[in-house]
Amino acid sequence: MKVLVINAGSSSLKYQLIDMEHETLLAKGLCERIGIDGKFTYKPQVAGKETVNAADYAMPSHVEAIDAVLNALADPKNGVVASMDEIDAVGHRVVHGGKEFAASCLITEESIEGIKKCFPLAPLHNPANLLGIDACRKAMPGKPQVAVFDTAFHMTMPPQAYIYAIPYEYYEKDDVRRYGFHGTSHRYVSARCRELLGNPEHSRIISCHLGNGSSLAAVQDGKSVETTMGLGPLAGVPMGTRCGDIDATILEYLMGRYGWDMKEMMNVLNKKSGVLGISGVSSDFRDLESAAQEGNARAQLALDKFCYEVKKDIGAYAAAMGGVDAIVFTAGVGENGSTTRAAICQGLEYMGVKLCEKRNNERADEHLISTDDSPVKVYVIATNEELMIARDTAALV
Ligand code: AMP
Repeated sequence: MKVLVINAGSSSLKYQLIDMEHETLLAKGLCERIGIDGKFTYKPQVAGKETVNAADYAMPSHVEAIDAVLNALADPKNGVVASMDEIDAVGHRVVHGGKEFAASCLITEESIEGIKKCFPLAPLHNPANLLGIDACRKAMPGKPQVAVFDTAFHMTMPPQAYIYAIPYEYYEKDDVRRYGFHGTSHRYVSARCRELLGNPEHSRIISCHLGNGSSLAAVQDGKSVETTMGLGPLAGVPMGTRCGDIDATILEYLMGRYGWDMKEMMNVLNKKSGVLGISGVSSDFRDLESAAQEGNARAQLALDKFCYEVKKDIGAYAAAMGGVDAIVFTAGVGENGSTTRAAICQGLEYMGVKLCEKRNNERADEHLISTDDSPVKVYVIATNEELMIARDTAALV
């Protein structure tokens, strides 16, 4: 079975074609600037086929973007399938599943209504995800499609973890609760970590997805029991440009002082905060590390703040689960930032975390970075959300 995986944003669309027989990636790429000037990238993973890099391609909407993808995949010269018929199913990333979706599902008229119901919870993401779904339905009528939700994995959280301490009616009437995100990534790396631990009956894993957006999840016996993001992805640890958890009083105070409306305030918290906000240098961890090495104190403070908050959440999640068997680092910073990983684990020796400096400085998609005698195992596991989406799609279809 060949599965096309689609991650549609408002003006971009990422895709991968995966052959599920051996889970091999056949091609991947990106449509950018949809509705603007259209740039198309196609990277076949089969020997002898040529890449297309950010080529001009008219894409007034997601429909033309999907056409570009299908044409490239079935191109007689550089394609990886003989025709579109070889694509058996399509899997879509959908950001918010609200209370509606606790698992991936086949796309039907009913599930589309469910995705629409979640629009108010993710007004930027869900409508864009649906554009990708609609475009595929137009281009490939009758082809089975599956929605995989970022929030679904966290629907196993107990009420004490997901309820906010505001009047209960807002939970009942307005669905205000912690949902959490990066669920597909946390699910993938925590499942892989359980395998590496030898599939024990009981396991307590802290999954740290640290990238431009960051979140942690406490995964007990394969189920998410707590996570740092909330109703939306602004909560938790500081991120590239997002503030993470802050005191709500700050909003009232700054809005009063500067006369901002809520939109302006949210723009500051989403786009100008996080490690960018503290450092004034960059949202990119590589830039921050270079600046800090050159003596930029605010870049160092931003890194210190990030590591401190991640460390605090690791401690909190160990408390929530009554201990921890393994910690996993994944995503851009988690997979590549050895200095950041070391700073996070430093001082956690009291709870049984012994990082091996040599292993931590080595590079691999998947490896143990704690010492052999460390009571808590620490792993780097490269995330693969697309593969998880493809697996769910294949299983449901
Ligand atoms: P992601 O959102 O998962 O793509 O992660 C992006 C983040 O990973 C950016 O802040 C990058 O600076 C960071 N990153 C990528 N490579 C490295 C590296 N070698 N060292 C530190 N951070 C890195």
